[in-house]
Amino acid sequence: MHEIFVPARITHLLTIESQEIRAVELTVPEVYEINGVSYSVRDAMWPGTAFLARPMGYRTRKLRRRMYTRSNCSMTAPYVLQTIINHTHEEKADTSIWWQTSEVEDWMRKGIPLDVRLEWDDAHTGLHIYENTKICKPSNLRLEPDGEWEHMRIVAIGFSTGLTPFLSYVRYMAAHDFGKSTGEGVRFTLIVSVRHPGQLMFHEELLEVERLFPQHFRYHPVLTRVWPDDWKYSTGRLFRVGATASGEPVVDLGPLRQVVPDLQGVHLRFCGNKEACHQLEMGLRQAGITPLSFRSEVW
Ligand SMILES: Cc1cc2nc3c(=O)[nH]c(=O)nc-3n(C[C@H](O)[C@H](O)[C@H](O)COP(=O)(O)OP(=O)(O)OC[C@H]3O[C@@H](n4cnc5c(N)ncnc54)[C@H](O)[C@@H]3O)c2cc1C
Repeated sequence: MHEIFVPARITHLLTIESQEIRAVELTVPEVYEINGVSYSVRDAMWPGTAFLARPMGYRTRKLRRRMYTRSNCSMTAPYVLQTIINHTHEEKADTSIWWQTSEVEDWMRKGIPLDVRLEWDDAHTGLHIYENTKICKPSNLRLEPDGEWEHMRIVAIGFSTGLTPFLSYVRYMAAHDFGKSTGEGVRFTLIVSVRHPGQLMFHEELLEVERLFPQHFRYHPVLTRVWPDDWKYSTGRLFRVGATASGEPVVDLGPLRQVVPDLQGVHLRFCGNKEACHQLEMGLRQAGITPLSFRSEVW
């Protein structure tokens, strides 16, 4: 069926690392007119899902279709789609470069619209923001439904902008007091790995949530390349690949297990690059660790 795109505005840009990482906010209109009829637009995106936008390609100078995981949540920031985008440095990188340029600041200043995909509601009487998945699968990071996540012990590992889906979880969970009203509440550990302190994203906010909900939320930022002398969290890689005498790869999960000694008792989540995800899976297999569940997303 014919896809519907609505013109959104870039309403906020936060450069986390120049030319490398930016947090972007796109604001979607609350009403959209099709063939002379105005339809209300609902924002019911669920934490951990992604929206579809049409940014410009730096290399191709064409509008492209790209998915972006939302880093805030519809409940606390309706119609404002925040995401975090990094320059991939892949050979064919296109939109990920554009997002880091001053042209994006121009688009924001001039109010140049950027398309975001909508969908019809079931009754075809209203529209909602399209989200990439409606069901929880091992290969996506849509948060479990209300009534489930509050009873889980979750450990989430985000490499660089892989923090994005988990930031949405944290914000949603904080808005629900981490599920305390339903009983014990969730226990959520967020491990974020970046190269140096300048790449930490929403660090102060995450520390503050941890201060407010110490029984429910633990934040563990890891610095892999550069760290201050007084850094009290992990440094270096969370898991390391070596080789046996015969050249077989061996993954040492030691540093990760120091942060979370009982990986078999948790619901493990990962977001980051494909290679790191494979290494983590291999490390778990080699150590004979089977978490309660494992779900991951790689971009
Ligand atoms: C569910 C999901 C969520 C994501 N969330 C984020 C996020 O939060 N933050 C983030 O930074 N990135 C996210 N990504 C990745 C993002 O969509 C882009 O792929 C990434 O930013 C790189 O974009 P790029 O245009 O530079 O390069 P690529 O997407 O790698 O594209 C490079 C080139 O490959 C070709 N190409 C790519 N895809 C296709 C295709 N489907 N069909 C045909 N040709 C293609 C095009 O020629 C393009 O110019 C997500 C991806 C998915 C699938």
